[in-house]
Amino acid sequence: MTEKEKNQIIKMRKNGVGYQAIATALNLSRDRVRNFCKKRNMAGFGAVFTLNDKEKTGEYERCLNCYKHIRQPKQGRPKKFCSNECRREWWKSHPEEINKKETAQYRLKCAYCGEDFISYGNKDRKYCSHNCYIHQRFYESEVRS
Ligand SMILES: [Zn+2]
Ligand SMILES: [Zn+2]
Repeated sequence: MTEKEKNQIIKMRKNGVGYQAIATALNLSRDRVRNFCKKRNMAGFGAVFTLNDKEKTGEYERCLNCYKHIRQPKQGRPKKFCSNECRREWWKSHPEEINKKETAQYRLKCAYCGEDFISYGNKDRKYCSHNCYIHQRFYESEVRS
């Protein structure tokens, strides 16, 4: 168990998160979480609840970072975090999630110079550079006139 995990357990436990839910969130066994809490005299803390099943549908009931209840806005996008601090903290401790979010890469051929180039997130890009785009525009207008 890392320091980070221990801190997370303490934080979740203080917000009334059950052993099983903590274990699931941190990918630990329930026994390890329970033993850790017992050692720290946190065994009887709060009520047990099942972890955010709604997470997958985009309806967050609890802050992903501190597991406090979130009051969701009636309109607009559901919140994942109770505060900006929690958002920042969570992203800081989940760098792999940022990588996952990174846009897809497409290997394309420039319509002007014919060079291969990588386009991030846009598979319809035609030119490797603004230069090529300009050249092609001039070229087209010359052909037409
Ligand atoms: Zn929070
Ligand atoms: Zn080009």
